[in-house]
Amino acid sequence: MKITKIQIDTLAVPLLHPYHLSREYGVFSTATPVVVRLFTDEGTVGYGECDPWPLFTGDSAAVSALILERHLAPMLIGKDPTNLNEIHRTMDACIRNQHLTKSAIDMACYDVWGKSVGMPVHQLLGGKRRDSMRCMWSIGGSTPEESAAEVLEAKRLGYDGCMIKIGGADWRLDAARTAAAREAVGADYPLIVDANQGWDVDTAIRYGKEIRRLGILFFEQPVQSWDVWGMAKIRRALDIPLSADEGVMTLQDARALVEKEAVDVFSIKVTKNGGIRPAKEICDYAAASGVQVFFNSMIEEGITEAASLQLGVTCGNIVTSIGHAYFSPNRLDGDICSYHKQIRVCDGETVLSPLPGLGVELDEEAMHRYTVDTRAVTEAYRA
Ligand SMILES: [Mg+2]
Repeated sequence: MKITKIQIDTLAVPLLHPYHLSREYGVFSTATPVVVRLFTDEGTVGYGECDPWPLFTGDSAAVSALILERHLAPMLIGKDPTNLNEIHRTMDACIRNQHLTKSAIDMACYDVWGKSVGMPVHQLLGGKRRDSMRCMWSIGGSTPEESAAEVLEAKRLGYDGCMIKIGGADWRLDAARTAAAREAVGADYPLIVDANQGWDVDTAIRYGKEIRRLGILFFEQPVQSWDVWGMAKIRRALDIPLSADEGVMTLQDARALVEKEAVDVFSIKVTKNGGIRPAKEICDYAAASGVQVFFNSMIEEGITEAASLQLGVTCGNIVTSIGHAYFSPNRLDGDICSYHKQIRVCDGETVLSPLPGLGVELDEEAMHRYTVDTRAVTEAYRA
């Protein structure tokens, strides 16, 4: 099988409500996924997605679309999409890093491979350990009263736990929000916090000591992504497991965090980590290192979420104290594929699709509604 054409659609999808994040990121109101359709000479079409966020990953939709069109796609025409080793070697030989952009191609190749042999991707990865993943929710920054109400609503809807975004300008306000949320939902509801790089080491330790009796399951990315030493210092100072998100983009990042004893949990995002294959490498390394994995998401549409679910069900070392972040399309104006039907909020679960490949069908009407730019690369373009 050979790749004959790659279509690249850039989307703009509004969030249902503005999402208030750390002082590093501000307010997020529109997601800009880039969707790849990978056509083959056997008629099978695969879907992939990447989810750029300039302040998070250093990519933007415009940059990802350009890299796909000018660098990656021309070199991938004619390649066998089922040979993931060769696909990744080719992409890495075209352009350094750019893991997020490359993830769209990786997902589309897995989708084509699965569809061509009539198997879901989890089977290609060695087989599923479960048929579903528990699903949690996440709330942005606001007042203690609003935080309490939002977490209570997540519990009422059936989500299996909630992430509270912190890392704002006033750590005492974030501590008060955390306390208000805990008081509202009771002692047993799973809660985690994420500072999204918003603080320095001292601020993170002050906050962590203030909330130490609130039963927070883990504390994600308190400091800048590069600050492995800061993570290690915070981990030694606090009795709360630490999670790395922005700090674990690559397998090499994962190794540095483990060797510095700076981490307990890796937040895995298939688009951030460069696709299913590199994300699986990090999951396998985590398993060998005594680190748990939390399946997290960018603000992303259903193709990326489906890819994450296919990998999630194969992993043995997942966090079990709280659900995983498989809810992202519920935060958006609409999903571009059938994935949202797999989220069963009332049961706090996301269930596998019976379909082959990533298990999703594209919604052409939704694609049309949100697409702001389309480009395509064929053999003729390459010539
Ligand atoms: Mg995070």
